[in-house]
Amino acid sequence: MRYSELFGKTLREAPRDEESKNAQLLARGGYVNKLMSGVYTFLPLGTRVLTKIENIVREEMAAIGGQEILMPTMQPKENWVATGRWDDFDVLYKVKSPDGREVALGPTHEEVVAPLAKQYVQSYKDLPLYLYQIQTKFRDELRAKNGLLRGREFRMKDLYSFHSSVEDLEAYYEKAKQAYAKIFDRVGLKALLTEASGGTFSKYSHEFQVQVESGEDVLYHCSKCSFCQNKEIVSADLDKLKVGEAGVCPKCGENLEVVSATEVGNIFQLKNKYSDPFKLTFLDSDGQTQTVMMGCYGIGTSRLMGTIAEVLSDEKGLRWPEEVAPYKVHLVSLGKSMPFANEVYHKLVSAGVEVLYDERDCSAGVKLGDADLVGLPLRVVVSDKTAAENKVELKARNSEEVRVISIDETLEILVK
Ligand SMILES: [Zn+2]
Repeated sequence: MRYSELFGKTLREAPRDEESKNAQLLARGGYVNKLMSGVYTFLPLGTRVLTKIENIVREEMAAIGGQEILMPTMQPKENWVATGRWDDFDVLYKVKSPDGREVALGPTHEEVVAPLAKQYVQSYKDLPLYLYQIQTKFRDELRAKNGLLRGREFRMKDLYSFHSSVEDLEAYYEKAKQAYAKIFDRVGLKALLTEASGGTFSKYSHEFQVQVESGEDVLYHCSKCSFCQNKEIVSADLDKLKVGEAGVCPKCGENLEVVSATEVGNIFQLKNKYSDPFKLTFLDSDGQTQTVMMGCYGIGTSRLMGTIAEVLSDEKGLRWPEEVAPYKVHLVSLGKSMPFANEVYHKLVSAGVEVLYDERDCSAGVKLGDADLVGLPLRVVVSDKTAAENKVELKARNSEEVRVISIDETLEILVK
C-alpha cells in the first residue's frame, strides 16, 4: 500500500476532545475517527488491525469446536421481558419503531441464541453445541470517555455453549479459559484471570483483565500465586486498600498489589438461567426431559485493539505485535532514492510481505516520525547512501538497532 494513496492520515496533535491514550494514539496514527462519544469509524489501517484480531479469535474458537453464525442486532422486546432484562439491563438501547413496536439493540445475545437453539436441539445427541458470532454490539454507557475501552457501539465475539450436564459445561469452561489465554498471548497482551461477580449474567464469573493505568476496574492481584479478584466481589478487608497500595494475599500470604485494569474478556457459567425462560430442554438417553446447561464467553475485539494500543505503545507512538499489525513493514524512501525504493517495494510485495510504502514528498523527520507513530513491527529505510550500495536500513520498532543489509538479506529475514 502506497502511503500517499492511503485514506486516513496521521495527525500532529490528538483531537481536543479525546482524553484517553488509546483514542489519542489511534486517532493520530490514522486508525480511527470519532463520530460521537463512544462511537468510532475504523479507517483502513484500523480495519486491518480489527480484522486480524477477529481472525485470531475465529481460529481459537474453531479450535474448541465453535461454529460461527451471525445473529441480528434488532431483538424483540418479548424475549427481553421473558428473561426479566428489559427493565433490569441498565445500558440497554430500547428503540421504538414508527408504529410503536419496541425492540432492543443487542448488547448481548442470550435472548436470541437460547430460543434459536431450542428450535434445533431435541435430544442429548444434539449436544454439546458451541455457537459464536463476531458482531457489533450496543450499550448505552453513561460515560464513554475511554476511547475504544468503553464504546457505546463496539465489536464483540460472543460464544454460547449448550450442554447436557453441569459437568460437561464445567469441562468446556476450562477449555474456553485455555483458548482465551492463547488469544491474549497471540495479540501480545498479558491478561490476568480474575474472579468476578456475574453481573446480570450469573452468580460468578471469570474475567480476563489487562493492567492499564486508565483502566476502570480495580484488581487485587498476587504475583506469587494465582489469586486475582475484582474489587466488586473482594472481601471487606481487602476493599479498604487503594490502587498502588499493597496488602497480604488471602491465599498464600505473600504481597498483594492493588492495580487498575481493563477487562478484555469474560466467561460465565449461565447454567439454566436463560434455558428456563425459553424452555430450552432435551430428551436424555432415558427419554426424560432435562434442561440444557449454558455457558457464555465474550471478548470485546475493538476493546482489545484499544488495550493493545494503550499498553504496548511508547512516547513515540503505537507498537503493534506482528500478528495484529496492519502491515508488517513500513518502507520509507528518503532523498532521491525513489527508483531503488520502488524496486525494494515490488520485491517485498512479490514475496508476499505486507508493506506500507511511504513515498510521499516530505521531510525525513516527518516520515520517520510517522513510522514510529503508526507503529508497524519493522521499518525499512532507503536513503541516497544505502541506494548507492544497493542496500537498505532495517530496524525493528521495539529496538534501537539498525542493520544495513541487501534486499536479499532483508527478504530472508522477512519471509520465514
Ligand atoms: Zn498469593
